[in-house]
Amino acid sequence: MNRFILYFSFFFVSLNTHAAEVSITMDDFNVHEETLLPADKRNEQILAVLKKHKIKATLFVTCKHLHNEADKRLLAAWSQQGHTIGNHTVNHRRFDNKVTADEEISEIHQCEDQLKSEKNFQKIFRFPMLAEGDTVEKRDAVRSWLKKNNYKLGHVTIDASDWYVDRRLRDKLEKDPNFDLKKFKEFYLQHMWERAQFYNELSKKVVGREVKHTLLVHFNLLNALFLDDLIQMFKDRGWTVIDSKAAFKDSIFEKLPNSMPSGQSLIWALAKESGKFESELRYPGENDTYEKDKMDALGL
Ligand SMILES: [Zn+2]
Repeated sequence: MNRFILYFSFFFVSLNTHAAEVSITMDDFNVHEETLLPADKRNEQILAVLKKHKIKATLFVTCKHLHNEADKRLLAAWSQQGHTIGNHTVNHRRFDNKVTADEEISEIHQCEDQLKSEKNFQKIFRFPMLAEGDTVEKRDAVRSWLKKNNYKLGHVTIDASDWYVDRRLRDKLEKDPNFDLKKFKEFYLQHMWERAQFYNELSKKVVGREVKHTLLVHFNLLNALFLDDLIQMFKDRGWTVIDSKAAFKDSIFEKLPNSMPSGQSLIWALAKESGKFESELRYPGENDTYEKDKMDALGL
């Protein structure tokens, strides 16, 4: 009997230790792109999916999208349902040679002014396009401002190109409103699974373990339609889907990789810093160009 119990507890413990963990982080909150589904419907559907799976996400808001009271009501629903609101700058400019460190800091500061009255606003910041600055000096200037102002970095660990799949979906629907959406769903799920595998394997090699992941997705039509399928896919394939707050407690998010070009997925940046994975790292980590031919071939 004892041996029986021992066997079963061992079985469950080993099941547990093998479940990779992933959380949902959603960027931009562009409530003014309304192909097929208006913003309030998209908001409702995305929030309903998170509720159904009993998970809390972090929404990184690009403040230029908040035009009026109606937009703020859509945002308030995220706070009301227990999700975290984070900062993603006002204008979503890439922090490169056209943007100074002072301009970047002012972008963050101004967006904070717009968001700070939100119930669940937290000082967590994600760089637009995951670009952390084109020089070491600029990168460090913003890092030090963030630290002084009690900000946490909202790093992505699993980066992907859902934004590009979404753009192709909208282009396709414009030409052919009756196009079979299932074909986009299949491509999207496969793409996300592939990228999740890549970054999770890289995490094992670079960090020596599977970190608690923050998956990057965007507030768009694609996720209004397929976020439920995406989360279900991770669950069906043995991953545990967790709250983003729990994920951000992983010690990996304290790291400040010293690699240049800076930014990308945090796992990518740590791999780059180690100098050991050059053959496995493409730059940028993710881009539309990597998906274009595959989507062309599928007629998407
Ligand atoms: Zn963004």
